[in-house]
Amino acid sequence: MRKVLIVGGGPAGLCAASVLARSGIDVEIVEISPDLRPQGVGLAVTGPSVRALAMVDPDLLARCVAEGAVHRAMSFGTADGQITRRVPLRQPAGEQYPAGFGIMRPVFWGLLADAAQRAGAKIRLSVTITAVRQEPDRVEVSLSDGSAVTCDLLIGADGLWSKVRELAFDDEPDPSFTGQTAWRVMVPRAPEIDRGIVVYTGPRGRIGCNPVSASEMYVFVGEITPQPTRLPQQEWPALLRELLAGYGTVIERAREQIADPDQVDRRPLYAMLVRQPWYRGRILLIGDAAHTVTPQLAMGAGIAIEDAVVLGDVLGSDTDLDSALDQFMRRRYDRCRLVVENSLQLGEWDKHPGEPGADPAGLSEATFAALAAPF
Ligand SMILES: Cc1cc2nc3c(=O)[nH]c(=O)nc-3n(C[C@H](O)[C@H](O)[C@H](O)COP(=O)(O)OP(=O)(O)OC[C@H]3O[C@@H](n4cnc5c(N)ncnc54)[C@H](O)[C@@H]3O)c2cc1C
Repeated sequence: MRKVLIVGGGPAGLCAASVLARSGIDVEIVEISPDLRPQGVGLAVTGPSVRALAMVDPDLLARCVAEGAVHRAMSFGTADGQITRRVPLRQPAGEQYPAGFGIMRPVFWGLLADAAQRAGAKIRLSVTITAVRQEPDRVEVSLSDGSAVTCDLLIGADGLWSKVRELAFDDEPDPSFTGQTAWRVMVPRAPEIDRGIVVYTGPRGRIGCNPVSASEMYVFVGEITPQPTRLPQQEWPALLRELLAGYGTVIERAREQIADPDQVDRRPLYAMLVRQPWYRGRILLIGDAAHTVTPQLAMGAGIAIEDAVVLGDVLGSDTDLDSALDQFMRRRYDRCRLVVENSLQLGEWDKHPGEPGADPAGLSEATFAALAAPF
């Protein structure tokens, strides 16, 4: 393995680049955006994701934790703002690492990109893949800037609407809309949100707060929407204020601060699990391109980072590419399927909370217990 081309500079692509470049492989990322500015406001890095980041680069993890807000517990409250239950978080990465943390997306992506570049990976911005041809011993890739790259392995880490998947896995079904639309809004961090995510259950289901730095948090809510509608961004603040009405203290104070459309992020939620294997010859899909999950377990970026860790292991082993990718699938498929399916189930219970057997807390706990196992 001499040359790897990665399409997409999100957590999957950037972490794969770090791991592979450090092992001496010539790694290049092509990213369609003009900068590495991601969509969305912030995200939660849960216990298994902390462990995966520590495996990519312990210094990188330390820098992320320093820029973010440490999570020690998950708390549950009522609509009027009373906390009724606090669940201490597991620390699968070990006592020396935090159980989890929240971080702003641009900060997180910037640190991941910095780590990939320090490891020796090159990143080309405003470039995408336009065509691909496989030969037995190489992949020939055409890029949108008119250049061509010959590589030993092409990695599609280009997210939900992956171009690599479209070009090389054209028999895979499109991602499915889940019937929910996620809203996020950045607001100053409330003093009550002092040890991690807090979720309040009230008239419109569950609304949560995730601290992402010493001074900031975001409020998150999933709206039930039968269709994936697009609405003018100017209208988002007023619509979100309506959705958040009827919840006490913390949410009410946040609600009063929603005015600027740029504060608000709104996106219809899709899910998808590509049938195994996620490789065709010398082309492999990782991250959301292979398994897009809804955010109920906050594990999408985590399993994308785990993909990078496992890829580094199998490509570093003394075996041929086919066997290495086969090992990759054995270690990744069931674990990613668990996250995709259980996140979807939690989304269904968000939509139908009275359904017989609905047990979101039990399913979340069971999923994190399973994910604490080595991968
Ligand atoms: C509302 C919401 C909240 C979430 N919250 C969390 C959370 O709290 N914790 C968590 O772990 N996960 C969360 N997730 C999931 C998480 O964001 C994703 O799982 C994660 O970003 C996947 O990383 P990735 O690198 O595979 O894909 P992406 O992050 O989507 O990155 C793909 C990259 O590829 C680039 N790209 C796309 N097309 C092309 C192309 N044709 N050519 C070149 N480049 C291309 C994109 O610009 C992007 O930079 C959330 C998701 C949503 C929708």
